[in-house]
Amino acid sequence: MQNKVKVEARNIAVSYGATQVLRDINLVVEPGEFFALLGPSGSGKSTLLRLIAGFNRAQSGQLLIGEVDVSRVPPWRRNVGMVFQNYALWPHMSVWQNVAFGLEERRLAKAVIAQKVQAALALVNLAEYANRRPSQLSGGQQQRVALARTLAIEPDVLLLDEPLSNLDAKLRVHMRDELRQLQRNLGITTIFVTHDQEEAMTTADRIAVMDQGIIQQLGTPMDLFDNPVNRFVANFVGSINLLPGTIRSADDGVVRLSSPCLGEISLPLRSQIQTERTLDIGFRPHAAQLQAPDSARVGDCVWAQGIVADFEFLGEFVRYHVRVADSRLVIDQPHRTGHALFAVDSTVAVGIPPAELRLIQG
Ligand code: ADP
Repeated sequence: MQNKVKVEARNIAVSYGATQVLRDINLVVEPGEFFALLGPSGSGKSTLLRLIAGFNRAQSGQLLIGEVDVSRVPPWRRNVGMVFQNYALWPHMSVWQNVAFGLEERRLAKAVIAQKVQAALALVNLAEYANRRPSQLSGGQQQRVALARTLAIEPDVLLLDEPLSNLDAKLRVHMRDELRQLQRNLGITTIFVTHDQEEAMTTADRIAVMDQGIIQQLGTPMDLFDNPVNRFVANFVGSINLLPGTIRSADDGVVRLSSPCLGEISLPLRSQIQTERTLDIGFRPHAAQLQAPDSARVGDCVWAQGIVADFEFLGEFVRYHVRVADSRLVIDQPHRTGHALFAVDSTVAVGIPPAELRLIQG
């Protein structure tokens, strides 16, 4: 049974010279959680992961693993296992020797090593590949060797740096499922770094979205998608239409807005807004419906009129680009066999259910 531990960052700051790379990072990864650090290149994800592994030092703040402050503990005494993006396998060693390496360094008895290597290889379904060299394996198999090597030392925390980015698209989806299954079976606290929002959404229990060394938002994939706190998160986790809006009033749980695209609308006030600041009204491309302008309006929606500028047929859905006032909206409509498409330059009615409208500041 895995010993499940918590990982906690308190007020962590890291700078390289004058460049501040992590700013006041506060984070609790719960025992047994599968946690993603998601953000664009340069946002500080790897720096944070390496800090948890012990390869980087913070200028200030504390890092706790299983309630113990490890800020000054070297990597080899943290019992943390890290799988590197390029796998870092020894090319001249067999799969077996690669997996045994960390155990031999710990000077365990030969029989114990043999038993642990066998168990680790069985875990990743590679028992019959023990005698191969890494070069005789596919990318996915090499990654499983790297995982087995890390899991063999029975770490308290598993760290994965862009675990799927070296694999082709199809294998990536397959390994994503395998990784998730393995993590569930083992129950080991796992933190992985990715720049791919789909990867983070489909595997992680919770995600910290990072930009410019700051955790912009932390939540479950659904939290982030449904309630992004700012424009950065709204755009990075999925895609969104953002329409400029002006706040007319906000009281009694209702906000009245005016927008060049949607006219005057009233929405229930679901979270705090700063009435003196500008605001965007956002909705996801799949959340709106298009209708012919003269057809009966179906459903409780906010309506606007627009012109189809372009569309792309993507099989499962059709992606329309629709001009409404000064904005160009992206609207995805499910494709049903036999349904006619809206032609370029045709006028359409755009309907958005009020529950799908988000108010985004910051
Ligand atoms: P990410 O993993 O999100 O791509 P990193 O954590 O690798 O981001 O890097 C964050 C920022 O820190 C980048 O601007 C990068 O150039 C800088 N950086 C990372 N490592 C070093 C280093 N050893 N020296 C100087 N700058 C660094």
